[in-house]
Amino acid sequence: MKTKKLVVLGGGESGVGAAILGKVKGMEVFLSDMGKIAPKYKEALDNANIKWEEGTHTESMILDADEVVKSPGIPPTAPMMQKIAAKNIPVISEIELAGRYTDAKMVCITGSNGKTTTTMLTYHILKNAGVNVGLAGNVGKSLALQVAYENHDVYVVELSSFQLENMYEFKANIAVLMNITPDHLDRYDYEMQNYVNAKFRILQNLTSKDAFIFWQDDPVIEAQLRNIETEAQMYPFAESIEENTKAYIDAENNMIINTPSTSINMPRADLALSGLHNLYNSMAAGLSACLLDLKKEDIRRALSNFEGVEHRLEYVDTIDGVRYINDSKATNVNSCWYALESVPKNTILILGGKDKGNDYTEIEPLVKEKVKAIVCMGKDNAKLLEFFTGKVGIIKDTHSIEEAIAQSASIAQPGDTVLLSPCCASFDLFKSYEDRGEQFKAIVKTLKK
Ligand code: ADP
Repeated sequence: MKTKKLVVLGGGESGVGAAILGKVKGMEVFLSDMGKIAPKYKEALDNANIKWEEGTHTESMILDADEVVKSPGIPPTAPMMQKIAAKNIPVISEIELAGRYTDAKMVCITGSNGKTTTTMLTYHILKNAGVNVGLAGNVGKSLALQVAYENHDVYVVELSSFQLENMYEFKANIAVLMNITPDHLDRYDYEMQNYVNAKFRILQNLTSKDAFIFWQDDPVIEAQLRNIETEAQMYPFAESIEENTKAYIDAENNMIINTPSTSINMPRADLALSGLHNLYNSMAAGLSACLLDLKKEDIRRALSNFEGVEHRLEYVDTIDGVRYINDSKATNVNSCWYALESVPKNTILILGGKDKGNDYTEIEPLVKEKVKAIVCMGKDNAKLLEFFTGKVGIIKDTHSIEEAIAQSASIAQPGDTVLLSPCCASFDLFKSYEDRGEQFKAIVKTLKK
């Protein structure tokens, strides 16, 4: 039989994992990255004897492929992708490739917000219950690499809409859709429906033995569910019980989870993560764990001792009576809404960065109720200044994190909260949201005398 030629575009975690899996499965693999490949990935490719290039795309090699694995960061409109499409070469994602070579159970988590928190929490519950579980997708090691070298019984996989785009035969056993609010619209021709369709690919191929866990009160999910068909068992969660709700808070403030084999009843106050959004995250993770037939005690214990995830409403310090909170991962308006929902009045909100087509009206009521000052932090704050001027007592225009923190500290009184929850991507001033959060934390610490 002819050896299959696999081309991988993008030399990051997922691309390198896909290349290694292809090689392990006997394919002829070539990896190409237009940018630079990190030294650790070059080493991994060399160790596996895989041909690679960086800073260029050699067309003759790429268009010779039988199949292409595309990293999620590369848009389908990139010139090379268009040439691949013109030659009708199939393009898949790393997750699709990995799914072909494992029978492990897949818990797949997507949504506009809450993916990483829910993924980490689900993984934490399974791991602590003694399950042989792997963590994959946007967090941790790529699924492909784990399928190549490790042998887990269950994978908890975080999936972005970009990853879902090139998935066709892949099947989840438990599919979780946290919510759908506008995000990345720049990548979807500013058409919300395109983004919704990408998210709903998580449901594809589910059978009557599989489960679909979703937020019942999400109007976008509700509308889309009316238009599609699925055989999956439905597990909606909501703050209070509605028709068919499988996880909710009862009149005594207990979190209730009901699945055919396991039911949980635990005080909401015992949940490790606070805030309404984290209640949803706990419900989704709890439902998945119950569906996997874990012991109730294990689920309850893990839901109450989870330590949270960095850069997500992360408490930094209290200095001169002012609480500082790092929510750098809030890269869209909806996640900032949940951050504001969870903070007290008299908050100073640091906002701004690279705008992805944001509409700030969603947070306007909470800003009016809870925010005493907005400190804009970005290369270009014009849109923010125009929108919020007159809607908040104080508004400041700053262009670096040092300046933004200094302004916030000078406005804040003891008892106030300074919240970095920018609604925007970080790339105008920072390398990444992690870089933004780390700089925030480091500079806040220097305020301590
Ligand atoms: P994602 O991986 O989808 O970006 P994260 O778990 O990293 O989500 O959380 C990102 C931000 O979104 C958090 O800082 C928090 O403010 C907000 N958030 C977390 N969970 C939810 C949720 N279920 N619904 C809405 N917002 C959320």
